[in-house]
Amino acid sequence: MLCPYCAFDESNVLESRDANEGKTTRRRRECLKCKKRFTTYEEVGNIELKVIKKDGRVVDYDRAKLERCFEKACWKLNSEERSKIIDEMEMKLLNWESVEIPSKEIAKLVMEKLKEIDPVAYIRFATIYLDVRKIEDFEKIISNFKKN
Ligand SMILES: [Zn+2]
Repeated sequence: MLCPYCAFDESNVLESRDANEGKTTRRRRECLKCKKRFTTYEEVGNIELKVIKKDGRVVDYDRAKLERCFEKACWKLNSEERSKIIDEMEMKLLNWESVEIPSKEIAKLVMEKLKEIDPVAYIRFATIYLDVRKIEDFEKIISNFKKN
C-alpha cells in the first residue's frame, strides 16, 4: 500500500471499517514516513496481511495455503463452497486489530469453521495442526469436540 503523497510503502492502520456490504474494507492509514493520512479501499482477494508464524517469522498472507488446507481436510466441499468459506474468513482477518495475525489464530478460525460444516474434517485438521502423535491426544480432541 503506497502512500499517495510520498510513495513510501509502510503505513499504520488507524481505523478499519466494512463498506459495500462487507465486500470492501475501508482503511484510514497514516504514512510512516511523511505522516500524512490517506484512505484505502481494499477488496477481498486483494489483501495485504502478514502472518506471524510459530517460530516468530512474519510472512505474507497466502490465500492458496488456506485453500490447500481446506482441500485436504474437507473433501465434501466443492471449490466454489471452499472459496466462499475462505472469503468469509478473509473478511474476519481484515477486521483484525492488526495487519499481522498469528498463524495460530488463523488455525483457530479454520477449526471453528470446520466444526460447523464437517466434524470429521475438524478432527482431521486438528490432528494434523496440533501434531497429534499419541492416541490419548487424539481422544482428547474428540472428547473436547463432543463437549462443545
Ligand atoms: Zn508518505
